[in-house]
Amino acid sequence: MVLGWISDFLHLLYPEVCLGCQIPLVDGEYLLCTACRGQLPVALPLDHQDNKVKDLFFARVPIQCASSLLYYEKIGVVQSLIHQLKYQNQEQISNFLGKWMASALRDEAVYSDIDLVVPVPVHPKRLRQRGYNQVNGFGRELAQGLGARFRESVLSKTRNTTKQAKLGQTERSDETQSPYQLMEQLPSGTHVLLVDDVITTGTTLSLCAKELHRNPDIKVSIATMAVSI
Ligand SMILES: [Zn+2]
Repeated sequence: MVLGWISDFLHLLYPEVCLGCQIPLVDGEYLLCTACRGQLPVALPLDHQDNKVKDLFFARVPIQCASSLLYYEKIGVVQSLIHQLKYQNQEQISNFLGKWMASALRDEAVYSDIDLVVPVPVHPKRLRQRGYNQVNGFGRELAQGLGARFRESVLSKTRNTTKQAKLGQTERSDETQSPYQLMEQLPSGTHVLLVDDVITTGTTLSLCAKELHRNPDIKVSIATMAVSI
């Protein structure tokens, strides 16, 4: 009870503000105000016939299904959310987006047989700096919503590629030297949902999916918080 009063008092002194526009949130709002949430460019539901996210993997790696929750723009609320998630310790954004996406995918038949949710791994050095893998909350919520398991130890990032990632398109031609490594064998028939924050060229996810496919006879699908295409 006392803790409740303290928390109410602190809330009065330091009201939580919207991560999009910084105005104080009102009762019933979480992380974003109603106006900012209403303006988010939602990418779902995806047309399964003309799926631009899935098309990124064409002729690169077999992908069962792929979808993104939001459209990523260079300025705007989505950019701000991803930036705060990655660089300002706002880890709860990951769970917020995961819960939202899980509720959207739950009714999609193509995602009904997901067994395992696997996040794109972060290099140990980056993990120490940030303190968390920014996709884990997203993955955990998706696993819970889809009745699947979550396991972050399936893939690992053995090489730090921060500088290479900035090369963009040129990195695409260098898919032979993967910084990712499969760490665990998966049972035949497993349907893996590979998750990441923003998909741009698809190189990272493509490399991770290739590692997962070292397991014979598994299916790989993809879900990301946002898509920048
Ligand atoms: Zn707002």
